[in-house]
Amino acid sequence: MSSDSKKKPSDSKEKSSDQRNKKGFATRAIHAGRDKSDPHGALTSPIYMTSTFQFDTAQQGAARFAGEEGGYIYSRLGNPTLNELELKLADLEGAESCLTVASGMGAITSVFWTFVAPGDEILVDETLYGCTFAYFRHGLEKFGVTVRHVDMRNPENLAREISDKTRIVYFETPANPNMRIVDIRAISKIAKDAGAKVVVDSTYMTPYLQNPIALGADIVIHSATKYLGGHGDLMAGVILSSAEDMEQIRYVGLKDMTGAVLSPMNAFLISRGLKTLELRMERHCDNAEKVANLLEASDKVTKVYFPGLPSFDQHELARSQMSRFGGMVAFELTGGHDAGLKFLNGLKLCKIAVSLGDAETLVEHPASMTHSPYTPEEREKYGITEGLVRISAGLENAKDILADLEQALAQV
Ligand SMILES: *Cc1c(COP(=O)(O)O)cnc(C)c1O
Repeated sequence: MSSDSKKKPSDSKEKSSDQRNKKGFATRAIHAGRDKSDPHGALTSPIYMTSTFQFDTAQQGAARFAGEEGGYIYSRLGNPTLNELELKLADLEGAESCLTVASGMGAITSVFWTFVAPGDEILVDETLYGCTFAYFRHGLEKFGVTVRHVDMRNPENLAREISDKTRIVYFETPANPNMRIVDIRAISKIAKDAGAKVVVDSTYMTPYLQNPIALGADIVIHSATKYLGGHGDLMAGVILSSAEDMEQIRYVGLKDMTGAVLSPMNAFLISRGLKTLELRMERHCDNAEKVANLLEASDKVTKVYFPGLPSFDQHELARSQMSRFGGMVAFELTGGHDAGLKFLNGLKLCKIAVSLGDAETLVEHPASMTHSPYTPEEREKYGITEGLVRISAGLENAKDILADLEQALAQV
């Protein structure tokens, strides 16, 4: 094992010769998955805007349905534009298989509907994206699935709660919005020993900064609406897993239960966005570090949540599983809730908006916006404080972002 914790987690594992010969991340983000069958030699892949595919003969159609012959049937089951994107993403994340769907929530629900049944139990972290929390609470529980929240910052909590009824262990790391980090290796080991699947929402990191499967997770989810698309112009979700799990997620969860199919146009836009993912993530990370430093130095700010700060209580754990610290920063103002709203209204360049991972710096107030599905009591219990402000550092020049944040801080 490498002692350099700054290295990518995938670099610190024993390497097969296959991995050693692997091309760099940006090269793979540009070239991997490219379908070379285009008769005109188009450099950029055409977009297959088609719902169905014609068969040469009735026998061919039957053979495809029976799985005796490859080839496309209908775009809810697969489409060449989505397939290219899926091969690329599987390569980038180091997963056997990938499925792209219509939104991050489409990815989460497609996975859960595939693997849970009434009477099952799932164990989920305390801090979750607001709609994920709402789905567990108002969706799954209604269908007889027991959902229990566990503070996964301490793996011993999971070890105590897990049982043979536990189907899935689910968490985000870093968690939205308070940046709590979960130890993917430790949690995966405990879950595996108990026969439960580990599902990680890695949206904040992208495959460039963190690879949960290499650390022991079974399934990785991304909201591609965020950094993967990267330009704030689409909604999409990604699921990565073994080929065996994906067979069920694709042909049961997606095909028959959620139907959350991605549009080929959006798949094309994500493939386009991925070509610059490495460049963009480096800039997002640089800008977030500068934003975190500025906030930490301000006397108007009581606490900054950014895993890259040495003062962050899980900084060492973050370094052990993330190659850099991402583009998200959260913080609390001395004046609490009201100061937070005043700060947002004082911004001139940065936009007041939910979502993240766009070129524009976006600022929001989780308690009244993204995390309003929680009750105030739940927010307090799960560490989403009323004064918390969340920043998605954009791709603008750092000096301009910092100047805007500084003038808005001066107004609170
Ligand atoms: C946005 C987000 C989601 C949901 O994704 P959509 O594409 O909006 O459906 C899930 N998890 C995290 C961490 C997110 O930020």
